[in-house]
Formats: sequence, C-alpha cells, structure tokens
Amino acid sequence: MIVGIDLGTTNSLIAYFTEEGPKVIPNRLGKNLTPSVVSVDEEGNVYVGETAKERMSLYPDSVAQTFKRSMGTERAYTLSGRVFKPEELSSMVLRALKEDAEAYLGEEITEAVISVPAYFDDKRRKATKRAGELAGLKVERMISEPTAAAVAYGLYDKTQDTRFLVFDLGGGTFDVSILELYHNILEVRAVAGDNYLGGEDFTAVMAKLFLQKSGLSLQNMTEKDQIRLYRQAEKAKRSISDEGTVTMSLLYQEEVKEQKITAKEYEEACEELLMKIREPVKKSLADAGLRLSDIDDVLLIGGATRLSIVRDFLIRLFRKFPDTKMNPDEAVALGAAIQGAMKERREEVKEVILTDVCSFTLGTEVVVEYEEGRFEDGRFCPIIERNTVIPASHTERLYTVRDNQDKVRVRVLQGESRFARNNLYLGELEIDVPKGPKGQEAVDVTYTYDINSLLEVEVKVVSTGFSQKMIIKGQDNQMTEEEIKKRMEELAYLKIQPRDYEENRLVLLRAERMYEEALGDHRKKLDHYITAFEAALRRGDHDEIQDAREALNQVLEEEDD
Ligand code: AMP
Repeated sequence: MIVGIDLGTTNSLIAYFTEEGPKVIPNRLGKNLTPSVVSVDEEGNVYVGETAKERMSLYPDSVAQTFKRSMGTERAYTLSGRVFKPEELSSMVLRALKEDAEAYLGEEITEAVISVPAYFDDKRRKATKRAGELAGLKVERMISEPTAAAVAYGLYDKTQDTRFLVFDLGGGTFDVSILELYHNILEVRAVAGDNYLGGEDFTAVMAKLFLQKSGLSLQNMTEKDQIRLYRQAEKAKRSISDEGTVTMSLLYQEEVKEQKITAKEYEEACEELLMKIREPVKKSLADAGLRLSDIDDVLLIGGATRLSIVRDFLIRLFRKFPDTKMNPDEAVALGAAIQGAMKERREEVKEVILTDVCSFTLGTEVVVEYEEGRFEDGRFCPIIERNTVIPASHTERLYTVRDNQDKVRVRVLQGESRFARNNLYLGELEIDVPKGPKGQEAVDVTYTYDINSLLEVEVKVVSTGFSQKMIIKGQDNQMTEEEIKKRMEELAYLKIQPRDYEENRLVLLRAERMYEEALGDHRKKLDHYITAFEAALRRGDHDEIQDAREALNQVLEEEDD
C-alpha cells in the first residue's frame, strides 16, 4: 500500500486509501495530528510529537521544531549534544508516523507519497526525499501541497474547466497557489507566499494585546513565563472565533492576571497581518495573468484558516464564500493518499495528470550593451521564468559581444535578481564559436526542465550547428545510497519510545508542568494524583496504570480549564 503523508511545519499526518475513500490514521495517542517536533534525550531516546512538545518547557535544549523551514540547508540542530540535519529530524517524524500507521493497519509500510510546498526548490525536495529514505520509506512521488488539497476536495472530478485558489495559512508559513483544471490535467499555475507568516503570528498579536492591556512587558518575563503566556494566547485565539470575546488569564509572579479581549479589538490588532496576506494573493494572480473575479473556487487549508477574522477578510477580498467542507488540517494528507491510490491504479480513483511549476527563475549571465559601445557585464537573463508550468523548454539567442570572440560561456543560474552574482550558481558550459565581428555569431541556449526537477541545458552555435549538452541534477548536498544506509543505521540507534510508555511519559510531563504553574489547593490535588500514578507505574500492573493515568488525565483537563 502507498500511504500519503503531509510532512508539515507544525503538524504532520499520515493517511491511506480505503474502499470508502481516503482516511487519516490516528497516531499512538489516538490523535490525527502529530506535532512536527522532535526531542532526543541524553540516553538517545527519541520523542516525536506531543511528548516532544511537552518537553519544550522542561528541557528546551533537547527539542527541535519548525525544522521544515531549513529543509535542504546545512543548518545543524543540537539536541542533548547530538547534531542533526533538518532532513534527519524530519526522518524521525516520518518514522513515528510510519510506525503508528503500521501498528494501526497491521502491515508493513514501505512506500509513500509525501507532500511538499509548491515553492520548494529542487534542493528542498531532494532533502524531503532523503528524509523519507532515512525513515525506510520509498518516496513514490512528491506532490505539491495545494495540488494535494485540490485532489482531496475532489476538484479533479469536475467536468468543467475550473480555476481555483488554494489559500494555505499554517502555523508558520503562508502559501497561495492558483490551480487550473483543464480537461483532466490539474495544473499549478502560480505560487506565492510568505515564509514567515502564519498562525503563530496571530498568537503573538494576542499575547501582545494581553500584555498591553495588563501593563506588562515581555522583557521582564522569564522564558517559562513567556512559554506560558503564548500557551494562554493560543487558547484565547482559538476560542475567540466562536465566542466573539474571550477572557485570557495568566499566572504571573504568583498572581493571576485576567483580561477580556473582544473580537473587534483583536481584529484591529491583526490589521497589519491581514494586510500582509493580501500581497501574495495579488502576486500569484499577477503571475498567472488572472484577476480576482477569474477565480471560481477558494479552498482553505492550514489550521489558521479557522480564525474567523481570516475567513471574514477572505470573504471581503474575494466577494465569495470559500469552500470549507474539508477539515483544513487534513486535506493535504488525504490528497496525498488519493495520489498514492492513483499510483497503484486503484479502480476507485480516476487518474489525473498533476503538473507543477518551476518555483524559481532559471537563467544565465549576460553582458548588456546599454548604449552604443558601452557594456555592463554580470547581468542576469531569465530563460525559464518562475511559475512556468513544467515540463518546460525555452530558448534564448545570445550574440557575441566582442570582435573576434572565439568562445561563449553559459553560466547556469537560478534566482530573481537582475544581477547574476545575487543568484544561485548551478553550473556552466563553454562552447567555441567562429571568430568574427561582434554580434555576428550567436548561440541558442535552451533550458529544459522536467517534472523530476532535472534541468537540461543545450547550447547550439547558430552558424555551425555544433551543440553541447549538460544535465544538472540536484546540486550539492547529495548523499549516495551507501551514505544514506550508513546514516540510517546510526539513526536507528535512537529509539522511538514504545507506545504505552510514551503515553505515560506525556501525562507525567504535562502534570509536572501544570504542577509548576499551579498554586495552593490546585497543587495539592495535582500532587495527589501524580503520586498515585507514579505508585501505579512502580507496581507495574497494566490495568492499574491505565486507571491511574485516566484519573490523572481527567484532573489535568479540569485544571487546564
Ligand atoms: P497547521 O500548520 O496547518 O497545522 O496550522 C497550525 C496553526 O493553526 C497554528 O498556528 C494554530 O494556532 C492554528 N489553529 C489551529 N486550530 C485553530 C482554531 N480553531 N482557531 C484558530 N487557529 C487555529
């Protein structure tokens, strides 16, 4: 079976295809969402998800999160003295998802479709693929997140050609994609986004508002105070949509501070964030050559699209109601599972062709004659523009710039700057041309970019017909199969906790944190239940442990309210 995986910045999910359609597989704690958080302790035990997140306030040096943002870079994360790359941390999330799914389905899972943001470049896609391999998964295909969402919404089944915009506001990132369904081809037409805008920013606004109203300042707070503040702000943010007003409280310096916050106040405070949302929407429409009124459907994905101020803003912007029939957290994973079923050629799903766009401009360095006889070198000449549908092939003719020039060098670059030096260097080709007066000889430079992100560069001398070719695969950061195997073995020493054990750890961690935050009778009550649970754990009787854990959990829920 090929499963579908949404490897998200904040949360990850795994789904599979059943006779009734795609379904999310719950994790070991019975939850559909597994936070993309990893913690490794001194002994090399790995915690993934909720437990790792809980460890944040007690052992911050052992926890990593939002590493998806650094995917494909050399950034190193040190957890309890061990060093990991972003793809290795991601591989631990994948491993946990895989193990949970295997336990749930009772069969081994070896193949997956993994979703990636549409704007992920070649390097980031390759790193994602390696993360899969490190987790023991063959990555059958990578699907772009908006395409997966569109597939899950069933839009590929429409009989009419349709244009839609996928609005994805996650925890820390914001992506807008414009897709078009044309016959049975589902095509990403344009992508735009803001890598540093997401639900967390809306939480930060809530926290700031609370501080302002209470006359407190973040500078005077300890790290633990701040973590607590953000947790309370997150809760307030989630409930303000339903209730129109919210009372946020915070235990600070042994005193409970309370503030009432209205939806109107909150919306005003979020004004700047809402304005920031507008830009990528405009940019993606411009890149696709469309107007707002050309969009037939707006799909919402990402947890932060649950915020009513975001929804209201979108209704005003698009003058239509977005399609919200799907759970915004699950659409991408479900779409990836459907794509897995398509790959397996399951009868229940219609095969559609999914295409993608090139997320950065590919071009070369040229010399520009800006007035007769005056040249400026080091300029960038785009050949395949950003957001061109791939596979794509474009040719640009370049002329000699000096008399008796006998060679033309084509430097292959990726990026958006007008200046070659600011763009990423991918490789180069040199070709001989017959000598002559400047401007007489020319070469045709053809870039061909295929669906697997392989770029082929061909340079052909116009007068002689002589040509030279080069294929640029992923750039550096490549690992051989042997290297992957070796690192896999190293990582295999780090054990993910057994399921039962993990549930117990999570409850204890939560209890310890809440004990620290509580006072007086609340503390006593927590202490009583924690002690009882610890005693049960020491005795080791399975049923007794379960009862004590449930009792403690219930107290934690009550106290949390
Ligand atoms: P994602 O990365 O898609 O899982 O999105 C996570 C973001 O969605 C976080 O910033 C959450 O605070 C936010 N979120 C989740 N549920 C809600 C909700 N009911 N109301 C507002 N924001 C939410």
